[in-house]
Amino acid sequence: MGAQQVREGFAALYGAEPEGVWSAPGRVNLIGEHTDYNDGFVMPFALPHTAVAAVSRRDDGVLRLHSADVEGGVVELRLDDLAPESDRNWTAYPAGVVWALCQAGHPVTGADVHLASTVPSGAGLSSSAALEVVIALALNDLFELGLQRWQLARLCQRAENVYVGAPTGIMDQTASACCEEGHALFLDTRDLSQKQIPFDLAAEGMRLLVVDTQVKHAHSEGEYGKRRAGCERGAALLGVDALRDVPYAELGDALARLGDDEEAVRLVRHVVTEDERVEKVVSLLKAGDTRAIGPVLVAGHASLRDDFRISCPELDLAVDTALAAGALGARMTGGGFGGSAIVLAEAADVETITKAVEEAFATAEFTAPRIFEAVPAAGARRLS
Ligand code: ADP
Ligand code: MG
Repeated sequence: MGAQQVREGFAALYGAEPEGVWSAPGRVNLIGEHTDYNDGFVMPFALPHTAVAAVSRRDDGVLRLHSADVEGGVVELRLDDLAPESDRNWTAYPAGVVWALCQAGHPVTGADVHLASTVPSGAGLSSSAALEVVIALALNDLFELGLQRWQLARLCQRAENVYVGAPTGIMDQTASACCEEGHALFLDTRDLSQKQIPFDLAAEGMRLLVVDTQVKHAHSEGEYGKRRAGCERGAALLGVDALRDVPYAELGDALARLGDDEEAVRLVRHVVTEDERVEKVVSLLKAGDTRAIGPVLVAGHASLRDDFRISCPELDLAVDTALAAGALGARMTGGGFGGSAIVLAEAADVETITKAVEEAFATAEFTAPRIFEAVPAAGARRLS
């Protein structure tokens, strides 16, 4: 949705022009899954799909929220009433950001917001982070808070963890806030240090497809939190602050120490090997050996499926079918339990692979997937 349309939507709702319009993208994660709450490495890039918000300041402690994508009218909240886990609706995401800013002592006094998003919701492409980051960036600009991108990402994560009640890591918000066009973001989630890695598949005759299985995940519920708690338990058993601190070279020893604690063994093995895979992909991309990342993606999928156990039949079918149809690599992306897979392919093979995946889903009587090409797009920014 364009800036102009959202601007007009705002004017129609609130009877005045907005002070500005901002956008923030969804993301796909190339590699590094469930490492971000283990202080590890991730490598997302921004999608061209964005949340766009028109925003004006208020000075009376009132927050008015409206989404073009949700039934129902304007939701009006008082900043004084904002409280963690008090809201089970979509409004918890933007309200949570306002809450986190106020809690941190930033002088936010209210706002009118109208937004629309092209990031598919619940598809593992971070529509929630796009929503948070677009609000955070708008308020940072309007109230002249002077916060840096990584600080906005931290506040958005706090909004999602504490206010919404979803125990997610820092990757999604940082990706939305910090990614750059034509690049993947190599992020160390321990200190948020980052490197922009050029990632231009088209120039090398390749494409990256996203296969949205249309199976909706629900992060706040259950399994994601269990994996996170299991990783923390694994770290405690090994006597480290976070699984990031288990060197890949010492994985064998670490697993031996966990003995017959099968669950801890599986979770630790995934996280430690996944961090290694991120570093491997970074070095392959730096060396210009892009096609060689394919097998690393495939190994990542196997680890998420067999050790971390967060795949599902639809994701496995998408990955297996794409590989059988000639893909260079494929894996599930995002939190798991549904959502999307990514497929790395030669440009010439895209049509064959797309058709094969669609046919396999039809044969399995799964809901038809949505398949689209992803090109690394810009991070959050002011549009007007
Ligand atoms: P993901 O981030 O993978 O898309 P989440 O469950 O984390 O999935 O976030 C999805 C939630 O974000 C939706 O249930 C809704 O509350 C909110 N959301 C996403 N897009 C919009 C939108 N355009 N308008 C209002 N709320 C939205
Ligand atoms: Mg999300």
